[in-house]
Amino acid sequence: SSTSSPTSFKFSDLEVQQCKPNEMAPKPDPNNLVFGHHFADHMLEIPWNADQGWGKPVICPVHNFSFHPAAKVFHYAVELFEGMKAYRGYDQKVRLFRPDCNMERMRSTAIRSSLPDFDGDEMIKCIQKLVSVDKEWVPHSTTSTLYLRPTFIGTEPSLGVSVSREALLYVISGPVGPYYPTGFKPVHLLADPKYVRAWEGGCGAYKMGANYAPTINIQLEALEKHHCQQVLWLYGPEHQLTEVGTMNIFMFWVNEQGERELVTPPLDTGIILPGVTRRSLIDLARKWGDIKVSERTFNMKDVTKALNENRLLELFGAGTACVVCPVEKIIYQGDDLHIPTMKDGAPITMKLYQELTDIQYAKTPSDWMVEV
Ligand code: PMP
Repeated sequence: SSTSSPTSFKFSDLEVQQCKPNEMAPKPDPNNLVFGHHFADHMLEIPWNADQGWGKPVICPVHNFSFHPAAKVFHYAVELFEGMKAYRGYDQKVRLFRPDCNMERMRSTAIRSSLPDFDGDEMIKCIQKLVSVDKEWVPHSTTSTLYLRPTFIGTEPSLGVSVSREALLYVISGPVGPYYPTGFKPVHLLADPKYVRAWEGGCGAYKMGANYAPTINIQLEALEKHHCQQVLWLYGPEHQLTEVGTMNIFMFWVNEQGERELVTPPLDTGIILPGVTRRSLIDLARKWGDIKVSERTFNMKDVTKALNENRLLELFGAGTACVVCPVEKIIYQGDDLHIPTMKDGAPITMKLYQELTDIQYAKTPSDWMVEV
């Protein structure tokens, strides 16, 4: 009804509380940035409660929170997040990459988490302002970025698995260095079908914290027992390939029909996170017109058969952090499968990396980029 609380916060209500000069942190050494360890000076905060709806967005100095120990987030993992970046282009202008896609995913995850919906365009305007307030934190480099972490938590201070009547949406950010300072670093994967990341009817298509906590232990096992940097997540009796660590997976091969095909698992089963990078690489490769691009399931039998017949050309992960991540080995049921991704210098993986980063750093103009 017209008297109900507004369905979104508004950028026009945004209040900015700038740090005092003495509160501003020194910028870290740009050649020594550890992901997730450095934070820009300001954050964005937007409170919500069931009675009054959305409050005013505020940009303020980064500060600690104080919540009651019964807050829903601490017990039932009522939490979700996003990962996106601000890029300083060759022309020195700072831009976001397809923020509308991140907001679409964030809103769908919020609904699945019983957290309130909001207007994605209003949120993008608030994020643009946050980045412009901390513009000097966007590295002066066409290989580094300012990583943005929009986060949404249920904060109602009461036990009981039920809708959180209080919530907080916030965004923090921090500079991150080049993912490949010395060229592509291909990874080894552990593919153990006894572990499953997501399942049909579950929440794999949503970016909620609850999907990530249980993967840490498996990642550790992959690293410590098998010296693998990432986990290859399989699914179902046929051992479908679904994702690599926190990346979508792509395979470039000559398929059973003899066609050169770039293939990635489909979104319709609900077990794959709809990656912004995934969607963008599919669009770029479709524009080339010289290879087939398919969203369909493929399994470990397809991989081993194609390997034996020399039809597997490249395998790589795709995500915001690295853009693309070449795979050179999979440990599967006691066998080392050697993937020839780097044999000819990973031509398709490299071409996608170059085309996408040229867009992100504004060497190639694109309406995917949104200036702050
Ligand atoms: N899959 C999972 C499970 C992820 O966490 C991510 C990172 N958000 C991705 C894929 C890649 O998504 P994006 O390209 O939007 O970073």
